[in-house]
Amino acid sequence: MPAEVLAQAAAEMLDWPDASGKPSGMGVMEMSHRGKEFQSIYEAAEADIRELLAVPANFKILFMQGGGLAENAIIPLNLAGMRAAPGTQGSADFVVTGSWSEKSLKEAGKYCQANVAANTKGGGFTAIPAPPSWKLDPSASYVHLCTNETINGVEFHSLPDLKALGSGAALVIDFSSHVASRPVDWNKVGLAFGGAQKNLGPAGLTMVVVREDLLGYSASICPSAFDYKTVADNQSMYNTPPTYAIYMAGLVFKWLKRQGGIAAMEARNMAKAELLYAALDASDFFYNKVHKDCRSRMNVPFFLRDESRNQAFLDGAKDAGLLQLKGHKSVGGMRASIYNAMPIEGVQTLVSYMREFEQKQA
Ligand SMILES: *Cc1c(COP(=O)(O)O)cnc(C)c1O
Repeated sequence: MPAEVLAQAAAEMLDWPDASGKPSGMGVMEMSHRGKEFQSIYEAAEADIRELLAVPANFKILFMQGGGLAENAIIPLNLAGMRAAPGTQGSADFVVTGSWSEKSLKEAGKYCQANVAANTKGGGFTAIPAPPSWKLDPSASYVHLCTNETINGVEFHSLPDLKALGSGAALVIDFSSHVASRPVDWNKVGLAFGGAQKNLGPAGLTMVVVREDLLGYSASICPSAFDYKTVADNQSMYNTPPTYAIYMAGLVFKWLKRQGGIAAMEARNMAKAELLYAALDASDFFYNKVHKDCRSRMNVPFFLRDESRNQAFLDGAKDAGLLQLKGHKSVGGMRASIYNAMPIEGVQTLVSYMREFEQKQA
């Protein structure tokens, strides 16, 4: 979270002022989600993220609960039947490029026929296979990708054009960990979803952006609160939405606008990532395993050639104010997550610490 946003939320905790600065006499957590105060917070958040991400008018923006993982079930329950033969559950294709898409595949298999279109596990999840090599099912309702594999550090720098690949399926992207770090090519996307907690706000909010023509195909067993059409028809208020998380995300959206919007964030994120990858590539002591054409700008996993120095590296990092660098347990090594809220100074501090650490080993 940007420090500025946290400070504003703290100042407004007990008494939220409206856009004109007039105190409302209550904090956001005390408001009715149907009252005019919260309605104005909700509407501003929706309009701001629509503007920031340039979401076209024929897409609905839904604010839901359950996180990215719940969406792994909610999506097949809503979309798998779209192009299914009568009496069948329908099918979906999965491009497995890391731990998150692997989880999505497994969960969807409970609700539809989930096909593996490609899987890079054999290569340690360090590459993205070329789209023409994907084995797409001609009757699949959707193709699922995780466009930034948070744990493995693999990012799609462009989206496939499914039509050009001869597929009539909708493209579904899990953009949890790089949403708002770069623009989205909506011409190629049917549905995008993400938990808010990486780049948009606090945990508890899930954002779904869905093209209108994909609504209305839910399975009869789909829970009503998770039926996209029901959620869309009720402006995300079929049941109580995560109001405080929406308010916080709304403050982050205003912050993103003050930073110059998504193009400005992308330029900053590129500069941050280039600085870190250049340091890794120039080092004899640290390295990154991901192919250069799909290295993530948000999550940078790296390793020490001498793994016995891992703990010493982490201890020294902590003393330098560099926290949460330990890699995910499934990958090992280190991981620097350099989300939107991380300033370039944070990356500079990390790079100088890495240099010093390396020199001490020599
Ligand atoms: C963090 C993350 C999720 C997980 O979401 P939860 O909100 O914890 O359910 C899903 N996908 C990706 C790519 C993530 O980084």
